[in-house]
Amino acid sequence: MCGRYRTQTISGDRLKRVQEIERFHSTESSNSDALEADSKLLLIHDPIATLVACDQRIWLVLGEVNGIRYNGEAIDRLGHNLLVEAAATVSFQPLGLRPATSDDDNSEKYDWRTFNLLIRSFEVPAACIEPLDPEVRTREGKTFHLHQSPFLVATTSLLLQRMQPAALKNLPKMVLRKACFVAQTSSEELTDIANANTSECSACTPAVRLDLSHGQRVLEHIACHILFDETTDRTALPCGLCLLPPSKCKYFVVKGRGAKANLRIDSERSGGCGRSVNFVYGIAALSTRTSPCSNVPLRCPLCSKAEPAVWRYNLELHFIDCHPTASTAEYSALWTISSDEMAAMRKIWKEIKERQRKGPKKQYRKSNAPKLVISEAHSTQTIPQYVFFHPKSSASA
Ligand SMILES: [Zn+2]
Ligand SMILES: [Zn+2]
Ligand SMILES: [Zn+2]
Repeated sequence: MCGRYRTQTISGDRLKRVQEIERFHSTESSNSDALEADSKLLLIHDPIATLVACDQRIWLVLGEVNGIRYNGEAIDRLGHNLLVEAAATVSFQPLGLRPATSDDDNSEKYDWRTFNLLIRSFEVPAACIEPLDPEVRTREGKTFHLHQSPFLVATTSLLLQRMQPAALKNLPKMVLRKACFVAQTSSEELTDIANANTSECSACTPAVRLDLSHGQRVLEHIACHILFDETTDRTALPCGLCLLPPSKCKYFVVKGRGAKANLRIDSERSGGCGRSVNFVYGIAALSTRTSPCSNVPLRCPLCSKAEPAVWRYNLELHFIDCHPTASTAEYSALWTISSDEMAAMRKIWKEIKERQRKGPKKQYRKSNAPKLVISEAHSTQTIPQYVFFHPKSSASA
């Protein structure tokens, strides 16, 4: 679509990028011919577009490729034909977008220009990106790209259509402040997508959204309620994920096959959890500096095999309640939490309370909304649900 506007500048720029890569990598022998067996290649520094989530909306973000991986291995080029492969990932440096002035584009054909942003890179599946071939300009020593609204709207639509619902649910979350992006307007559907992989912690007031894609973090959050929250009834032996009692939420643990096999959750026998989250049992059971919580369901050594597992942080109370005649000294190692673990968990609980005290993150507050000005003039009749957002400062400039 942008090809029509392709000028010598772009070709030169792309050629320069290719030459730079040749210079830096000419000594490396490449055994990845298959990865470059396409006439169109994605290269480091190539401009791309992808979608991100912010404020429960989906936004188009432009960026510059700064890393390409195939099966985890860093490569410097990849055929466009392989971008759909699950093994391919791309990291990019997001670019800001603001209205182009006649100084930026004396042809006045383009209404948007990119600018550099000092924010972190994002890594996304390569299937989520669209390589771009924009008009490139240099002014005051800075290189930027020029774009037209219909093209940006069409690219957003293309990416939305192409991406699987699962990928849309897991879009990278980004804080948008000064940048300008194209968005699909908020709708219940998009709110659903944004919230699809989250669950509200009812034990928190105001309610806190837990990101279910990070099982370890959910375990940690709920474990804090079990350990420190006075409103949580520990004697009810609450589930480490949903806080329901064992009469409602049952977990069973099995050993995998083979001598060295690890324990895992027996998904066939377990059931009733109000917040079923995937986590790796062996990792969750270990308390480490970065992930101190070790609250996992444990097989009680004295209960019959028909009984569900007992969460580690509840095991002592379970012993007192169900096995009052047993010698606790013999089993206490199973439930004793190290002082390091306890201190780290207490710190996490303090942070949770602190976040609650401060309220939702600033960028989600309505009062901050006026910073973004909706420019409906740029939406099109064909896809009316798209609007552009850009900062007030550049709109009034
Ligand atoms: Zn909570
Ligand atoms: Zn549960
Ligand atoms: Zn027991």
